[in-house]
Amino acid sequence: MSEVRSTCPYCGVGCGVILTPDGEGLSVRGDPDHPANRGRLCSKGSALAETVGAEGRLLAPRIGGHETDWDTALDRVADRFAATIAEHGPDSVAFYASGQMLTEDYYVANKFMKGFVGTANIDTNSRLCMASTVAGHKRAFGTDTVPGTYEDLDQADLVVLVGSNLAWCHPVLHQRVLAAKAARGTKIIVVDPRRTATCDGADLHLPLHIGSDVALFNALLREIAETGAFDPGYVDRVDGLEAALAAARTDSLEPTGLAPDLVDRFFRLWIGTDKVVTVFSQGVNQSSSGTDKVNAILNCHLATGRIGKPGQGPLSVTGQPNAMGGREVGGLSNTLACHLDIEVPAHRAAVAEFWDAPRLASAPGLKAVEMFRAVASGRIKALWIMHTNPAATLPEADAVRAAIAACDFTVVSDITADTDTARLADVLLPAAAWAEKDGTVTNSDRTISRQRAALAGPGRARPDWWHVAQVARRMGHKAAFDYDGPAEIFREHAALSGIAGGFGRDFDISALADLSDGAYADLAPTRWPVAAKRGGRFFADGRSFHADGRMRMVPVTWRAPAAKHEPRFPFRLNTGRVRDHWHTMTRTGRSARLSAHLAEPFVEIHPCDAARLGIAADTLVDLSAPTGRAILRATVTDAVQPGTLFAPMHWTGETAPSGRIDALVAGATDPVSGQPESKASVCAARPFAAA
Ligand code: SF4
Repeated sequence: MSEVRSTCPYCGVGCGVILTPDGEGLSVRGDPDHPANRGRLCSKGSALAETVGAEGRLLAPRIGGHETDWDTALDRVADRFAATIAEHGPDSVAFYASGQMLTEDYYVANKFMKGFVGTANIDTNSRLCMASTVAGHKRAFGTDTVPGTYEDLDQADLVVLVGSNLAWCHPVLHQRVLAAKAARGTKIIVVDPRRTATCDGADLHLPLHIGSDVALFNALLREIAETGAFDPGYVDRVDGLEAALAAARTDSLEPTGLAPDLVDRFFRLWIGTDKVVTVFSQGVNQSSSGTDKVNAILNCHLATGRIGKPGQGPLSVTGQPNAMGGREVGGLSNTLACHLDIEVPAHRAAVAEFWDAPRLASAPGLKAVEMFRAVASGRIKALWIMHTNPAATLPEADAVRAAIAACDFTVVSDITADTDTARLADVLLPAAAWAEKDGTVTNSDRTISRQRAALAGPGRARPDWWHVAQVARRMGHKAAFDYDGPAEIFREHAALSGIAGGFGRDFDISALADLSDGAYADLAPTRWPVAAKRGGRFFADGRSFHADGRMRMVPVTWRAPAAKHEPRFPFRLNTGRVRDHWHTMTRTGRSARLSAHLAEPFVEIHPCDAARLGIAADTLVDLSAPTGRAILRATVTDAVQPGTLFAPMHWTGETAPSGRIDALVAGATDPVSGQPESKASVCAARPFAAA
């Protein structure tokens, strides 16, 4: 086979890759023509070839741990879902999806659950990634519209990275920012409680206290007001300025713990630079005040008119390769396809008519944390989990694992049977892996890219959309799920977006609804909207997607993280990613090169705390929280602040205690977005003593 252009399946940068099949393996290089990376790749992307192959793969469907054929497995899933719905109603079943799924997979799963099962109990691990940004965008702009693009990073004079370790989590974007610094002197400010690798290339690091971002950006808004830095032409088109400012004036800088001179330098750079891009990621989103943090940032850009122009604006970067595609298809339990609103009757009616759906869900469903609590309580009796490992990665992971184990019926679609979650499944369905399947993904700047198969799937692995369509057909929905491939699904998705455009919404790719199979196969990276009704860049005209077309500044005030310190649990626990691993390492764990970077789970602890507790570097630390326990090796470093700890989220474990840090993360969520607070739990630490 000749070269195949595809997309890296890890982070939301969405780098183009060129795959050259070589027997059962591949060689991989960066695609010089892809607009996201122009040939660059990070360590994970460069090692993709080391993660393919049949070793460790789930090769055939399994029921109760025994291999079976596809028909038997699919019949079992359809029968159990149908029986559960018949006895307990549609809200007794749930689907937990993933930002790893391709847009076509995501679309079919949402159509099945929301349109044909009749429940919105379909949520996604992207709830843990960017739900707060979705909610913040909707409050400000009326829709979940990402205003910025990657080119803005090339054109900015100041890039502010908030809650984002871009150097490790979105490395190619970080390379773009560093290239802009070299080429035009772009200044870089990092706002992060930890001193991360991203700080190495920065001009200024603001090590604020965990969870205090709203206090910082409210202070910036006050400074904008006091220095007369408003853009009068723009704020005329914005509602809520006075209310947002009044709220900001009730806040103080004290929660940030930042030195005044650092804050002054931040203010002077931000206010004194027209071309400012504020990049934000999980440190903003994964918070019980995540939506308010997003709006605090957006407020500053709206107040100064620094949005909708080259090199200016807020830019959220998504963690996962297709978190954005999931947003497009309504992958969250409180959204509907194509950025339509599940709570607006006219939107529901339009989607129901388009799908010819017999029972479109009429209300939002359960969000991720709520969903697994409903599994634990027995309210959810049948559960389908696709390409994600909630037994290891959701907050309160021990309770989630127990809930899945006790669920009446659990289906898992995945590439391996060897995850904490897959081991609990009643039925396992073998999925095609990234290099074996066709479809599209959308990256953080709205660019749709093709993922193309370069290898045949091993054993009986099949694509995810096929798993869902086959079950839907067995449940009586033959016509609606009679797809012959991803091109047909994509055309339907694109056509539906034309309806969304008819409601004055942002997401419109209806110009792609008539793509031939060949044109779909050849589709070059394409940023939406494709049929731009407003022309050019979002918000260049200062008009939003609210019914009155006006932008909204949202009044927000600082709130402390939900988990309160108590003498038994004196540490604030921050979690995140390392440079060379991805999620629970089902792929990156196969690369010795990647695993060599950081070989085992660890906890970062400040030298003062380590000395006080008698914890020596590289010794084991026993961490405990109200929800669970973990044993990790100590990295003693002043990169973390006294009283705080940092641990990565990648390592799993069959038996507690282990390196499975999400067992310690509390299930507190943002009241607007439902996103869990993964970076501010409380815990205790002491030297590990073997029993
Ligand atoms: Fe893949 Fe992200 Fe690295 Fe690009 S930056 S190669 S998308 S992991």
